Amino acid sequence: MNTLEIANLSKSFGGVRAVDAVTFAVRPGEFLALIGPNGAGKSTCFNMINGQLAPDSGSIRFADREIAGLPSRMIWQLGVGRTFQVAATFVSMTVVENVQLALLSHAGEIFRGWRPVARRHRERALELLGEVGMREAAERASRELAYGDIKRLEFAIALASAPKLLLMDEPTAGMAPRERTDLITLVKRLVVERGISVLFTEHSMDVVFAFADRIIVLARGKLIADGDAKAVRENALVQQVYFGTGKSFERKRELLP
Ligand code: ADP
Ligand code: MG
Repeated sequence: MNTLEIANLSKSFGGVRAVDAVTFAVRPGEFLALIGPNGAGKSTCFNMINGQLAPDSGSIRFADREIAGLPSRMIWQLGVGRTFQVAATFVSMTVVENVQLALLSHAGEIFRGWRPVARRHRERALELLGEVGMREAAERASRELAYGDIKRLEFAIALASAPKLLLMDEPTAGMAPRERTDLITLVKRLVVERGISVLFTEHSMDVVFAFADRIIVLARGKLIADGDAKAVRENALVQQVYFGTGKSFERKRELLP
């Protein structure tokens, strides 16, 4: 059984068909890249899967259940995790406290004032930080972290909810090439160990081709390719969209269907 099955998913904003009858699946344990030029509809797809946006039509099945249009918290509780920016309100907390809070939240423990529960889940939080290489930074204020460390903290927070499927929309945005590779290497190792399926977007084609098990390509809301790195690289439409300039695929939007 597939982890996630999307069928004929559509969403328009005014006259713009941001996602247009898209169908694909995420297989168990798969590291699946969703790529496409800016404005292709990648984030809109993610936001429908995680419940932040209700689709206009179509189906999203997760764990053998229809989740399209369910509230995002319910989708998260069912096992669809995502990386998200460390919330601005929590920058005053330490690194380990942020992970403890995620563990508390996942355990359904009510968040009534943080301090009285300051030791809850601390050991597990430290363990998770160790796994993402952040054990040493546990007691630092989150606001002091370098950008790459914030990304690793976000990943630890996402793992805290023990997702079956993890959605990562541009997890390496704003990172230097070396940092990107390091983060994706870490992410892939830890999700493979846990059997978590991942759907991710990423701008660097080098990273996509090196790490993705399979690649699906969106352009102007439509799915134009679905296959392994070789098939996608050799796909004529994808080449028009991506490789025409050899550099920036944004410039090739005018060639899209
Ligand atoms: P991507 O993540 O691939 O860059 P998006 O999903 O963000 O693409 O956007 C797809 C299209 O939908 C774009 O044309 C974008 O301008 C439009 N769009 C996305 N979100 C909204 C919104 N909340 N309101 C209006 N238009 C939107
Ligand atoms: Mg986006």
